[in-house]
Amino acid sequence: TTFTNPPLDPLLLENISSARYTTPTPVQKYSIPIVAADRDLMACAQTGSGKTAGFLFPILSASFASGPRPPPAETPQMGYARTRKAYPTALILAPTRELVSQIHEEARKFAYRSWLRPAVVYGGADINQQLRQIERGCDLLSATPGRLVDLIERGRISLNNIRYLVLDEADRMLDMGFEPQIRRIVQGEDMPGVHDRQTLMFSATFPRDIQLLARDFLKDYIFLSV
Ligand code: AMP
Repeated sequence: TTFTNPPLDPLLLENISSARYTTPTPVQKYSIPIVAADRDLMACAQTGSGKTAGFLFPILSASFASGPRPPPAETPQMGYARTRKAYPTALILAPTRELVSQIHEEARKFAYRSWLRPAVVYGGADINQQLRQIERGCDLLSATPGRLVDLIERGRISLNNIRYLVLDEADRMLDMGFEPQIRRIVQGEDMPGVHDRQTLMFSATFPRDIQLLARDFLKDYIFLSV
């Protein structure tokens, strides 16, 4: 393949070649090195540009190489009603069921045969089935904002261990009225601070409300427009 800059994890490269991705798209060509260099990113890119792999590849590559990350110590849950709680290390927020499902399918394809377990949650579907799925592994979580808030409030997902945070189609999430849920997630006490995580935002447009989110959620970020 020509996914050579920067060098990606060998298992990921095998999965990329099985998917017959031979050449990076323009957004991938620029975003992969930026994310691999640990920089925050604000990218203006459309659906169909290949932006999903643009953030998944560097996240998966670094995650495969580093192995699972133990969750930080939290106040232990007390009592009998102790349930398993998931501690994802990567969180991808997107506006719709269709979009989070597509991201999840791509994550499954490229995480194949690795230790990393992708999971997906979205509103308007049976929460118990999603809880069972999360219990089987939830290292990289694709989520719609409302359902994620619900699962955090039920104590079933902790954001304490997040290393990567991606906001995909940020402009559509704001159009759909998700700003309060997004702020609850990103600025809640559960989420590591901006200096203790890497944050990537993708949006088709860059109006004032997205600029404000970028100012609040990103640190010293690189702006990419493709
Ligand atoms: P996205 O913009 O991330 O939704 O991707 C649009 C479509 O392009 C998806 O069906 C991807 O599977 C496909 N795709 C993304 N990157 C590549 C690539 N480098 N080579 C071939 N297909 C790709």
